[in-house]
Amino acid sequence: MSDHRPRKRFGQNFLHDPHIIQRIVDAVAPGPDETLVEIGPGEGALTGPLLAAAGRLTAVELDRDLAAHLRERFGEALTVVEADATRVDLRELLPEQEGGEERPLRLVGNLPYNVSTPLLFHFLGYRNAIRDMHFMLQREVVERMGAKPGSRQYGRLSVMVQYHCAVTPLFRVPAGAFRPAPKVESMVVRLVPHAEPPVAVADEARLAAVVTRAFGARRKTLANALKGELDAEAIRAAGVDPGARAETLDLAAFARLANASVAG
Ligand code: SAM
Repeated sequence: MSDHRPRKRFGQNFLHDPHIIQRIVDAVAPGPDETLVEIGPGEGALTGPLLAAAGRLTAVELDRDLAAHLRERFGEALTVVEADATRVDLRELLPEQEGGEERPLRLVGNLPYNVSTPLLFHFLGYRNAIRDMHFMLQREVVERMGAKPGSRQYGRLSVMVQYHCAVTPLFRVPAGAFRPAPKVESMVVRLVPHAEPPVAVADEARLAAVVTRAFGARRKTLANALKGELDAEAIRAAGVDPGARAETLDLAAFARLANASVAG
C-alpha cells in the first residue's frame, strides 16, 4: 500500500524487515484452529505470514483506510474489526463453539506505542480468556514490565503485569526495521497470564490503588506515600518497613499491604 502516508497520531511505524517478521511468527508459532487476534495490523506486514501459518485470523485496526486495504488484500481468511482496540470487547471475537479451549485467545501485534499501556491494561481485563500475548513494544516498556525489585526500571507496570502474567522478553528490534523509523528501540515480549495469581490478593482494585500510591511518590518512604491509606503500624503489621521505599518491595509485600488496607 505504497500511497498510505503513516499517521503519527495512530502510532504508525510499519515493519519492513522480513527477518524480524519471521522471528515474530516463529515466536508465536501459530497452529490451525487457534483464535489468533492481531492488534494494529497496519498494512499487513505480520498479517500475511500469520495467516499463512494459522489459516485464519482476526485483526483489530483503527485506521479506516488500512482496514479497507486489509479486507481487499486478504479476503475472507481475515476478519477485520475496524475498532479502537483499547475498547474492543475481546469476548466478542471468540468463536461460538461449546467446549472449546478454556483460554482460547492468542493476541499478537506490533502495538502503537502511544497507547501501549492502556492497551495492555485493557487486555489484562480479559486474562482468563487469553492463552498468550506476543507484542512488539518500546524496549524500555518491556524492561519495565520484567524489572525486579531494586532496579531502576521497577515500578507500577512491573508489579501489575507480573501479578497477572509471566513476562519473557524475547529479542530487541532496531529502529531501522520500521518505516518510518521510531526514535526508540523496540523489543518483542511474550506474556502468559497466570492460571492462578502468584500471590493471594483479596481485592485487586486495592492492590492497584496501593501500588499506584506507593510509586506515585517513589522518593518518599512508604509511610509518607501511603498516608491516609495505611498508617506506619499497619504497614509494619503487614511485615513491611514503613521507612522503606516502594522500589524495594516485591509482589508478595504489595499483596500484604493491599490485604491490610482491606482489613483496616
Ligand atoms: N502491524 C503493522 C506493522 O508491523 O507494520 C503496523 C504496526 S503500527 C506500530 C500500529 C498499528 O496500530 C497501526 O496500523 C495503527 O493504525 C493501529 N492502531 C493505532 N491505534 C490503534 C487502536 N487504538 N486500536 C487498533 N489499532 C490501532
